[in-house]
Amino acid sequence: MSHVLAAVAWPYANGPRHIGHVSGFGVPSDVFSRYMRMAGHDVLMVSGTDEHGTPIQVQADKEGVTPRELADRYNRVIVEDLHGLGLSYDLFTRTTTGNHYTVVQELFEGLHRNGYIVPKVTMGAISPSTGRTLPDRYIEGTCPICGYDSARGDQCDNCGNQLDPIDLVNPRSKINGETPRFVETEHFFLDLPAFAQALGKWLDSREGWRPNVLRFSKNLLDDLQPRAITRDLEWGVPIPLEGWRDRTDKRIYVWFDAVIGYLSASIEWARRSGDPEAWRRWWDADGAGEEARGYYFMGKDNIVFHSVIWPALLLGYSGEGDRGGEPGDLGHLNLPTEVVSSEFLTMEGRKFSSSRQVVIYVRDFLERYDADALRYFIAVAGPESQDTDFTWAEFLRRNNDELVAGWGNLVNRSISMAAKNFGEIPAAGELTPEDRALLETAKAAFAQVGGLIERHRQKQAITEAMRVVGEANKYLSDQAPWKMKDDRERMGTVLHVALQAVSDCNTLLTPFLPHSAQKVHELLGGTGVHAPMPSIVQVDDLDGGPSYPILTGDYSTGARWASAPIEAGRQLAPPKPVFRKLDPSIVDEELARLDPAAST
Ligand SMILES: [Zn+2]
Repeated sequence: MSHVLAAVAWPYANGPRHIGHVSGFGVPSDVFSRYMRMAGHDVLMVSGTDEHGTPIQVQADKEGVTPRELADRYNRVIVEDLHGLGLSYDLFTRTTTGNHYTVVQELFEGLHRNGYIVPKVTMGAISPSTGRTLPDRYIEGTCPICGYDSARGDQCDNCGNQLDPIDLVNPRSKINGETPRFVETEHFFLDLPAFAQALGKWLDSREGWRPNVLRFSKNLLDDLQPRAITRDLEWGVPIPLEGWRDRTDKRIYVWFDAVIGYLSASIEWARRSGDPEAWRRWWDADGAGEEARGYYFMGKDNIVFHSVIWPALLLGYSGEGDRGGEPGDLGHLNLPTEVVSSEFLTMEGRKFSSSRQVVIYVRDFLERYDADALRYFIAVAGPESQDTDFTWAEFLRRNNDELVAGWGNLVNRSISMAAKNFGEIPAAGELTPEDRALLETAKAAFAQVGGLIERHRQKQAITEAMRVVGEANKYLSDQAPWKMKDDRERMGTVLHVALQAVSDCNTLLTPFLPHSAQKVHELLGGTGVHAPMPSIVQVDDLDGGPSYPILTGDYSTGARWASAPIEAGRQLAPPKPVFRKLDPSIVDEELARLDPAAST
């Protein structure tokens, strides 16, 4: 047993999330967390919505609402979507809580005290006509990197690179079109080069990372530059230094506050649990959390924040960069054990794009299809280690041929045959070599499938579990218990063995397919919670702010990661189908929902 932190990427709250997002961070982190809990580890799975920064301010301006109102709206949408997918967060919170502000400011102060945050004079934009500062969001121009003509002052939405307003080619004010004037202004920078050595040593000691993630991260160390951590912006966490605290025109940069969310959410979880120090079991590198492991889940566009910047913040706060220093009140903090990054999901051969309608929102998907059908697709065909295309034809095929005709059929025919002929789980008589072979295959799969999930090879893991399903289906076809009307004892034995295999397969598939796993558990006559589910709870802000919805749950009950012997004599009723077979017409219907360009 050990303490395992599952730190899941923070979805940005400027709109609903699409299935590409949840295939990168959401479902894989949930499969991992569910498995680790079943295997007896003490898992803390945390995340929340990322709510500061220019894009939310810009979107709010466009809609005539406050940034907080906009963030409230999408925080709720995202919480509901993640709940619909059954993602078992211990806490899914947000970055606009009083707790988060306190923790972000504590890290900022600790880094500043240790000398890792340095002021720097840079060129900031002002409006020549009014003489006032022009916040980043009011400046637009051509991206110097990709040439996109509507890049913002802080970021290019086309290539994703972070920018400074002065980098833009042909900068212009979005207010009146005039060309901004650049004057000297002071900002704070994180002294990243001071961590090059410590980061290099840490990266060299990493084991088991996907090779591309490790290589990419090490390459970044060759060219570390000080990085701005404050912006000309009103929406964000105030800068906690004398003379800056009360300024309303400068805020901490959104990326700096968002990565700290893993720590602040752990602290919030502990404060809500009744033991405010409990978070240290996952974080305290010198004490309670010494043996803890931390796994960070994200898409590949976020690797730099998790393998370089977040570790640098943790090193600096703990006093472990080139400038030394002392740990702050939160202590000496654990660095990530592993950065688990996935690749991109594309959509019918094209990049997801909300503006071009090449998109399937989680909400729309869940209105028409079951959560486990999507979870299955993501696990078996998702972008685990290479960019992967989502097509409706492939979704249909995976659902109908594998989930329904493979696993659903095994559940359905074995339970209905036992229900019809015995009304209960029949007892097993003497076992044949074929019976033993199936039972052993199923039992042996636990170590194999579990080991693969622990090493983040979920595609191989679910394929292995489905291989056992295939073996069990073959066993039933070979044994043909429906032909054994005059040998009830042998029929009972075969069905007992088949049901034991169903029970084992169901446990093996539980991390991937928790909703249907609960149903299969009940069809087998089981009671109680097999696969615990998260719930949405409206809570008060712990520090006096407005209330908000969180995702949380009690995951201490549920199945263990082991073969559990089924009990002969347990009542069985004729089963209802666990999965829905989809009509092939959905493919054309769904393609028609995309923009006309997609279907021609
Ligand atoms: Zn660009």
